[in-house]
Amino acid sequence: MEALSAGAAPCRCLLADSMPEMAATVADYVATLPAEARAAEETRQARLQRCLACPSLRNGTCALCGCYVEARTAKRRSRCPASPPKWREA
Ligand code: SF4
Repeated sequence: MEALSAGAAPCRCLLADSMPEMAATVADYVATLPAEARAAEETRQARLQRCLACPSLRNGTCALCGCYVEARTAKRRSRCPASPPKWREA
């Protein structure tokens, strides 16, 4: 996937596919989360699949809450802000 350029339409994609440098920053942040606060990788991947199918996803950002979904999905106690939520706390 091409990097985001000025004037480009937002993509329903993750940061890893649109803004790799920001994806690396978010990955560094996720790595600092205490183990007890982090969702299991299987849970995180299942959440990310829901985000990838969601029309609110814009270049790795949730249009409902403004979070980078690669960060939001990494937290065990996090939940999707949609009503009803598309994924919940683990
Ligand atoms: S509304 Fe929920 S599923 Fe959709 S992008 Fe935001 S966090 Fe992901």
